[in-house]
Amino acid sequence: MSKAHRGRPLRQEMPMGGRGQCPVCKATGIKVHYEYTVGEVTVKVCKPCRAALNRGTKSVA
Ligand SMILES: [Zn+2]
Repeated sequence: MSKAHRGRPLRQEMPMGGRGQCPVCKATGIKVHYEYTVGEVTVKVCKPCRAALNRGTKSVA
């Protein structure tokens, strides 16, 4: 297991340097590395939103 959400690989391998807009909290310029699968759709969300989704306190809009 490598640090998939940290450091150089983010900037090199992800578009926008791993930053973008979270579809859940609508924040821009944040790291959205976390894939959350809803049914057949996988969305990329930010870290706090992934945690919230896993807890069930938020849902993907
Ligand atoms: Zn978010």
